[in-house]
Amino acid sequence: MKWIDYASPHTVKEAVTLLAEKGDAARAMAGGTDLIVEMRVGRRTPALVVDIKGIPELNEITYTTEDGLTLGAAVPCYKIYNNKAVIKNYPGLVDAASIIGGTQIQGRASIGGNLCNAAPSGDAIPALIALGAKAKIAGVNGTRIVNVEDFCLAPRQTVVKPGELLVSLSIPAPKANTGARYIRFIPRNEMDIAVVGVGVSVELNGSTFKSARVSLASVAPKPLFVKEAGDALAGKPISEASIEKAAELAAAAAKPISDMRGTAEYRKHLCAVLTRRALNAAIERTRGGTVNAH
Ligand SMILES: Cc1cc2nc3c(=O)[nH]c(=O)nc-3n(C[C@H](O)[C@H](O)[C@H](O)COP(=O)(O)OP(=O)(O)OC[C@H]3O[C@@H](n4cnc5c(N)ncnc54)[C@H](O)[C@@H]3O)c2cc1C
Repeated sequence: MKWIDYASPHTVKEAVTLLAEKGDAARAMAGGTDLIVEMRVGRRTPALVVDIKGIPELNEITYTTEDGLTLGAAVPCYKIYNNKAVIKNYPGLVDAASIIGGTQIQGRASIGGNLCNAAPSGDAIPALIALGAKAKIAGVNGTRIVNVEDFCLAPRQTVVKPGELLVSLSIPAPKANTGARYIRFIPRNEMDIAVVGVGVSVELNGSTFKSARVSLASVAPKPLFVKEAGDALAGKPISEASIEKAAELAAAAAKPISDMRGTAEYRKHLCAVLTRRALNAAIERTRGGTVNAH
């Protein structure tokens, strides 16, 4: 059996010092719902696990109308979807946090861990991209900010370098007349990987779209930001035709593989269907309507 060192620092500085000392051989652990599974099957074999749950900054959720939401990287899903400010202002994030695993997983799993794990199917990632989230990354030499759409590079690879730590995610305060939605298709009711996931946000101006963002999961080696689909809606009437055009662009941007959950062709078709549904639901939310998270 391989010996694994374990550390439980109380500050970001302490954590990045530990991570920097071991470089590639160290892994941060938030909820451990991905990391421990990967260690068990031998996909990751860190010499040092740095448990970041005990760092206060990584456990904070703060919201102000000026700065929006700041979500500590280790905050578990159940705290996110039970937070009043998140429920009121970011239903698109509640959609994602409340479908990651089941109740037990949600008690540990963080949105930060979902992003850092960089699975093409990570449910939180398209929701974050659609909401224009930014990631704060700390290293021994200071911090940097990265747009979430630029965070994942490939399956299980991100811009976080050895010795660095994702500290928090920030999402701007929602503007007037905005709404968002994340939906996924899975073969059964829960606890499966998305065959396709779609995150959208819209900003409306009377009977037209002012702006929109569309992001996809499970249809490329990393979650995709489909800028052209959102841009196609800007200035267009809120109509079936505009939504159909954005849905077609989302399907065209997808580069899916075929696997046991579905063929590439099926996934492309689903991209269009789910983009249409997500946009309609985001519009409904913008107009004050209720859309169930599930
Ligand atoms: C039964 C089961 C069901 C699941 N269902 C879903 C699902 O429906 N949808 C879904 O998207 N996922 C699902 N997952 C995967 C997993 O639960 C999520 O990806 C979860 O959000 C990961 O968060 P975590 O805090 O547990 O991450 P961890 O396991 O702690 O970490 C994940 C990875 O990110 C790195 N990391 C974590 N935090 C940081 C940080 N702050 N800075 C730098 N690196 C960091 C770790 O080193 C590790 O490589 C499921 C897992 C299980 C076991």
